[in-house]
Amino acid sequence: MKILTVIGARPQFIKAASFSELFRKNNTEILVHTGQHYDFEMSELLFSELKLPKPDYNLNVGSRNHGEQIAKMLEEIEKILYIEKPQGVLLYGDTNSTLAGALAASKLNIPIFHIEAGLRSYNKKMPEEQNRIITDHLSSLLFCPTQTAVDNLKREGLSEGVIYTGDIMYDAILRNMKISQEKYSFNKGIEEIIYNSLKRSDCLFKEDDYYLATIHRAENTDDRVKLKKIIESFDKMNKIVVMPIHPRTRNILDKMNIKTQNIIFVKPVGYLLMLYLISKSCMVITDSGGVQKEAFLLNKPCTTLRDETEWVETLKNNWNALCSIKQKTIIDLVQRDTRHLKISEKSVFGNGNTTEIIVNSIIKYGGNSK
Ligand code: UDP
Repeated sequence: MKILTVIGARPQFIKAASFSELFRKNNTEILVHTGQHYDFEMSELLFSELKLPKPDYNLNVGSRNHGEQIAKMLEEIEKILYIEKPQGVLLYGDTNSTLAGALAASKLNIPIFHIEAGLRSYNKKMPEEQNRIITDHLSSLLFCPTQTAVDNLKREGLSEGVIYTGDIMYDAILRNMKISQEKYSFNKGIEEIIYNSLKRSDCLFKEDDYYLATIHRAENTDDRVKLKKIIESFDKMNKIVVMPIHPRTRNILDKMNIKTQNIIFVKPVGYLLMLYLISKSCMVITDSGGVQKEAFLLNKPCTTLRDETEWVETLKNNWNALCSIKQKTIIDLVQRDTRHLKISEKSVFGNGNTTEIIVNSIIKYGGNSK
């Protein structure tokens, strides 16, 4: 079978690695990288670390306004679809690359296979929510990471082609945690790891004695008052906050010129180091979807700086706490006593065989449509 996959952003590279390896054993995959994320740490580093195949096409669209970015991708993907004539287009998640791929494929009546279908925040102001609703409604196969996602789709009248698969990120964690452990051999001191990996000697923090934070959602970064509150609360925490910083957040913070003492800002780290840093932290603070789940799957409590989450399974027993952007609330929730919290079963995200289920379903679909 021949499919064409569109990816363009960091979490998509992480999810794509295990699928590409398995699917390509007996099938053809054409890989299109839109260039939505283009910094070395957000793209090339992950491609080499995860041994992702080299893209067949690189669109280099870069940062632009939403409409312009999607339009540019749409135009280029359509041209490639005419050349490659795939039997299906595979899309991941909810980025502008996902939406452009969905629009291009559906206009040419090419079936769409959507990994991470059915997620909803029920906040239509989020660009991600707009992208995922449209993509789901244009898809032929909708691979749902959770039962909640299946139920969400049912409420929107979608049941044909909907398949509960578990979460492909769980597969990614199981696959890469071992490699991360070998690479950062867990008995080394964390200072040594950080010094060797990031070439920074000023990062003094101890295992289990720091918060790991990531902030990049438009709702937090585009509102400077909110971003200032977040950074100021991190600066008043009882433990160091280690923050691999997304380029979008970096650009805005650079203009705001806030002085901090308790935050260690580092460039975006590779996925293997990210898994290590999560697993050695005492709590994760984030607005990322993927990082919330990684905290849960690596047994770390989490505070999510958003009003809602698509990953409601992680909220049970307050393991992951949603947090509004008020300084006192952030500090109180992050510093809450988590010692007696009970974590839910990991199986809400599947059994770690999601990639296999997805690959088999796509091949079966290809066979049936011949
Ligand atoms: N991630 C990473 N390095 C970093 C920050 C995040 O490898 O410095 C990984 C993280 O472990 C997760 C993914 O990137 O697997 C999440 O991506 P992001 O937060 O950009 O997007 P979201 O999940 O919110 O769509």
